[in-house]
Amino acid sequence: MKKLLEIHRKWHRENRCELKKSATQAVFGFGNPKAKIVFIGEAPGKEEDLSGKPFVGRSGKFLDEMLSTVKLKRGDVYITNVVKYRPPNNRDPKPAEIKECLPWLCEELNFIKPKVVVTLGRHALKIFFPKEKIGVVHGKFLKTKIQNLNAEDFFALYHPAAALYNGSMRKTLIKDFKKLPKVLEKLK
Ligand code: URA
Repeated sequence: MKKLLEIHRKWHRENRCELKKSATQAVFGFGNPKAKIVFIGEAPGKEEDLSGKPFVGRSGKFLDEMLSTVKLKRGDVYITNVVKYRPPNNRDPKPAEIKECLPWLCEELNFIKPKVVVTLGRHALKIFFPKEKIGVVHGKFLKTKIQNLNAEDFFALYHPAAALYNGSMRKTLIKDFKKLPKVLEKLK
């Protein structure tokens, strides 16, 4: 855990992201450093910005509910975001902001070496699979080899925030989420 904290502190110090100026604080990835599953969200929202922890607001509660359906708890997994600073008014992160935060995310992944990386929403998906569309690949297992990245197995899901108030997307996300144990089993 100490090493992971060092990674976060180093990148927070070196990060030149514009969002750093308006955010209350950086929101470091959080959870089990030995996790087999890493979830990657988009960016901290208001509650995450205030608390300094990822997914503590409404989307986080929904994520916890889904984790419990596959008998997992926060302590079993590791959760982080594409960008570590809240964009003003929760706007989408800009390409330059994503680019600036990318080495941070890659070092987190290289340290944890998860069996599977679960991308939540289109921003996390696009980093690793720029040509894929979330509406097409959600609930699917994806594989890629990226230079200097120690992770190649991915699973794409809709973002919990997008599904919170959309009944059919919510159902789809819950259904997709339940495939996660099978994905892990395959990777054993
Ligand atoms: N949405 C995200 O993408 N990340 C968070 O940490 C919270 C909400």
